[in-house]
Amino acid sequence: MAEEYRYKRVLLKLSGEALAGDLGYGIDPKVVDDLADEIAEIVHDGVQLAVVVGGGNIFRGVAGAAGGMDRAQADYMGMLSTVLNALAMQDAIERAGMGKAADGSDIQCRVQTAIEMRQIAEPYIRRRALRHLEKGRIVICAAGTGNPYFTTDTAAALRAMELKCDAIIKGTK
Ligand code: UDP
Repeated sequence: MAEEYRYKRVLLKLSGEALAGDLGYGIDPKVVDDLADEIAEIVHDGVQLAVVVGGGNIFRGVAGAAGGMDRAQADYMGMLSTVLNALAMQDAIERAGMGKAADGSDIQCRVQTAIEMRQIAEPYIRRRALRHLEKGRIVICAAGTGNPYFTTDTAAALRAMELKCDAIIKGTK
């Protein structure tokens, strides 16, 4: 139960590199599944979890800018890459979480994006995210802050403050 854990509500920042595993690029399904298993376990135990995903395994704005791209344009591509990671994590968490909620039901996982794309994810709405967390649903926050010239580490700090998380834990390679 949550009492055994030091933190009741945690923001987990997963860098893109963490999802690439030994591939060094893109998404390693095995790594994603292993992460999802661990996530399902702590949520089963009652920890409320928000996740901010990075995108460095796919595209980084600074790399695009170094190659001559407009920096803001490149950063938007970087933010979109975090959405790919978020959808991969959501899929893995839903599979790992089948029947794993404390009451034996499935663990629910919602993706919220800072850039609207309603066909595939909810828009980021702080109060709705809080409600999901209170109900034991995992919230994956994608598309960073929604602004170029920032990183997903900034987004992690921002969301952790807004969502009143007790701790930020960063998972990188
Ligand atoms: N990004 C951005 N604004 C944000 C968050 C991210 O423009 O609020 C872009 C930026 O180009 C960044 C990319 O998205 O390089 C991927 O995020 P990040 O590099 O933080 O991913 P990580 O290093 O965690 O894999």
